[in-house]
Amino acid sequence: MLPPNGDDLLKAVIFDMDGVLVDSMSYHAEAVQHIFDEIGVDMDKQDIFEREGERTVDIVEFLLEKGTENASEYDISDIVERYIAEFNRIAEMKVFDGMQECLNVLKERFDLAVVSGSDRPIVNYIINSQYPGVFRELVTADDVQRGKPEPDPYLQAMKMLGIKKHEGIVIENAPMGVEAAKRAGLCCVAVPTYLDPGKFHQADMVMKDHIQLVEFLMKLEPSYDCPQSKS
Ligand code: CA
Repeated sequence: MLPPNGDDLLKAVIFDMDGVLVDSMSYHAEAVQHIFDEIGVDMDKQDIFEREGERTVDIVEFLLEKGTENASEYDISDIVERYIAEFNRIAEMKVFDGMQECLNVLKERFDLAVVSGSDRPIVNYIINSQYPGVFRELVTADDVQRGKPEPDPYLQAMKMLGIKKHEGIVIENAPMGVEAAKRAGLCCVAVPTYLDPGKFHQADMVMKDHIQLVEFLMKLEPSYDCPQSKS
């Protein structure tokens, strides 16, 4: 029998979606690019990768302000709606190898949640089709006033899961997402799916790739002690 230590146990694992559970960022970037081509505003796809994690509405606002002097004349919610339809039209679901099997094991040990900057229709579609019955809670762009890098989406997940900050661990692949998790006081593991690993200095640990991430998760136990809790 382990000594009673209930207060220190890890209870929940919180996953970002795009770039962690599914290899989807190129489709998000392409869908936004198509709509910006339609409205005749120049944009740089790299900005979308740099700002990954933010809500679409915030990314669109940034791109409009950067790409045109008449940003205020555009209907952002209309652009977001068109982007969602375009994403659904072009996206092919690519799940990272081993993640589905891994999460089906992990859900027996922990409560699992998704915290995504993606819009609710996209999150529902991806999670219901690729990870059915895996997650207890989902937080999407539509559930918070302020998205990543603000801590709000992660604070919302902690509330829904009923956990304290030392009882959760976050898996992220974008610097804005890592910042959000850290500002919420959570332990954060990063996997640099689309950007240079050097951009993840705020994370408590940086994995080499998804293979190493799956290995880490398969071994994760409630007794896990995050490096941050020692500092
Ligand atoms: Ca992400």
